[in-house]
Amino acid sequence: MNTAEVSKLTALSAICTNYQIITQGQCFFCSLVCPSCVMFSTHKGHEVIQPDEAVRKIRDKFDQNIKSGKLKVEYTETFLVDIRQALVQCDQQRNKILKDVDKVMNDLIQVLKDRKNAVIVSVDEYFKQEKEKILLEESKWRDRQKICEELLKLSSKKDSDQEILIRSKYVADGIDQLNERQKFSELKLISSLDAIVHHRDDADKAVDISSSELMQLFKGYLQINEYKRLQYKC
Ligand SMILES: [Zn+2]
Ligand SMILES: [Zn+2]
Repeated sequence: MNTAEVSKLTALSAICTNYQIITQGQCFFCSLVCPSCVMFSTHKGHEVIQPDEAVRKIRDKFDQNIKSGKLKVEYTETFLVDIRQALVQCDQQRNKILKDVDKVMNDLIQVLKDRKNAVIVSVDEYFKQEKEKILLEESKWRDRQKICEELLKLSSKKDSDQEILIRSKYVADGIDQLNERQKFSELKLISSLDAIVHHRDDADKAVDISSSELMQLFKGYLQINEYKRLQYKC
């Protein structure tokens, strides 16, 4: 654009950035425009008016809004205060709910942990008692094994007649023990656990279980379901 043309620029015009010519009108919605922009470019179909008229209209709008107080900081500030309060409430509520989650879950986890320990202790105790019964039989039969060795030794010694007589009660008792009628002991082993949570209301309808009820249920969770019987000679 030459200097002669640039000199035609007024306070109510500018150089179009698309076509590098001086604007002649005002797109009411957008900005100063040249005829090419209105005909071919992004402002196609927009309302174009005289720039001085546009200035008047825009200044009228300023006046209206200044009068109504909308351009004051206080006006937007009332919105911002409300929005900031909403943000604070959002955070506060988030923290409160997360605390609730933590409390409810931790209580449940604690009940489950306690229950786990109680189940472990009772299962362990049960097997310990069963094992003690077997160990008792084991020691009884180990003793008998020793008696057998002893009797075998006595019987094989050539000059043991006197000893046999002196220990005849031991010999008789020992042989009696070995000739006792064969018995069987029964072993009752836990073979499965019941992992179902049993709730009284078993009707075919939705049942609400509160967290305290859930904790109550968990306190008795995982019971012995079945035993397996085993027999062994003794
Ligand atoms: Zn233009
Ligand atoms: Zn426009």
